[in-house]
Amino acid sequence: MMEELLTQLKLARIREVYQDWIDKASKEEMSYADFLHGLLSDEVCARGENQIKRRMKQACFPFEKTIEQFDFSLRPELKRQVILNCMDETFVHKGRSLVLIGPPGTGKTHVSISVGIKMIQLGYNVKFVMAQGLINDYVGMKDTGDRQELLNSLARVDLLIIDEFGYLPHDKEAGSLFYQVISDRYEKNGTIITSNKSLRSWAEMLHDSSLATALIDRLMHHGEVFYLSGESYRLRGKKKYLEGDTPSAELNLEMSDCQVKTG
Ligand code: ADP
Ligand code: MG
Repeated sequence: MMEELLTQLKLARIREVYQDWIDKASKEEMSYADFLHGLLSDEVCARGENQIKRRMKQACFPFEKTIEQFDFSLRPELKRQVILNCMDETFVHKGRSLVLIGPPGTGKTHVSISVGIKMIQLGYNVKFVMAQGLINDYVGMKDTGDRQELLNSLARVDLLIIDEFGYLPHDKEAGSLFYQVISDRYEKNGTIITSNKSLRSWAEMLHDSSLATALIDRLMHHGEVFYLSGESYRLRGKKKYLEGDTPSAELNLEMSDCQVKTG
């Protein structure tokens, strides 16, 4: 009977734990108020956790790393305070953006994911997409209705992370796609882009310099760009193999990874 009522009310967590709470209440002579408060808090807590889990899944992060796991001393050009400033609500509310540019292994994806995780914890929804995957999806849609739906769904996301922008030569249609995505989000919600190409070469990458200028203009109005440099974190301490003539199997893997990514 109790279980049915709790199911009807969609109080899943209470349904799981109410018997324990009843036992605890009678053992500890808990007041009615404390009992009710404890039970309801349990439900609220579980819902919050479930929502975070759901949002983490929807975000499609390729890996999960936090800013605490990021060693800023390796990338002095990336100011800790500026990145920490990206981790508050204004990043979404004020439609701010962050552009991270640098060679492979400098932590661009790591930093973008850590901002994403923080936003999820603050109650926002986040979507992580690979630039190339997005273009392929878009170009593959021949129906304008489907394309519009894809654009609308991207416009609704509180924080959109576009990873590896410009790693591979982009299709001619990429320019209008990215311009549309950025202008839909302009002053409305947060955007992070990672790339291995400087802003200067985005025009060439998008086959249209006025479009690229308009895109960068919107992106930078409330945004910041960081150029990361230095040794790849993936290759740290392995420099001797790069210089020597006996590369390890592990290094071979890393090198082919770099070649694919830099195109
Ligand atoms: P990029 O996107 O620039 O190619 P990633 O963010 O994918 O680089 O980083 C490659 C790997 O190295 C990841 O596992 C990441 O967590 C780690 N990494 C990179 N930079 C740092 C750093 N400064 N501190 C800790 N881990 C790092
Ligand atoms: Mg990356």
